[in-house]
Amino acid sequence: MKFTRIKCPHCGSTIDFKLEGGGGTVQDFGEPVVFDCKLCMKPISNGLKEWGELGWFNKTKAILRTIYTVLFYGVGTGGILGAIAMYSLKLNERQLTITAVLLIGMNICIFGFIHVFLIRREIRASNERLRSRT
Ligand SMILES: [Zn+2]
Repeated sequence: MKFTRIKCPHCGSTIDFKLEGGGGTVQDFGEPVVFDCKLCMKPISNGLKEWGELGWFNKTKAILRTIYTVLFYGVGTGGILGAIAMYSLKLNERQLTITAVLLIGMNICIFGFIHVFLIRREIRASNERLRSRT
């Protein structure tokens, strides 16, 4: 879940709107919600579409974003753990390289697993919503 500040397209007033999607990992699709602006009372959509309604371009974008996020967190946390290992274990260059590769690989696997799990769950929930709508 995350908060996104959006503006009313009708009157331009800023509205805080709670946007739900993918447990914070996926923002490319989600439940389309329409609510009324507090000021001008006109309906505003949160602009989200269900997974099944997305075109191939947006689906690809969603998947690429996930891969990018996984790599970013994997390399980031792997690098931090590697630096900690280097200072605490006083590794030489060769040992450090092996440790860094192992840590980064391990973290990419862990984050990849979590993200695949979350995305699959979101797509399933999205498809359920789509099916129950019609
Ligand atoms: Zn408005």
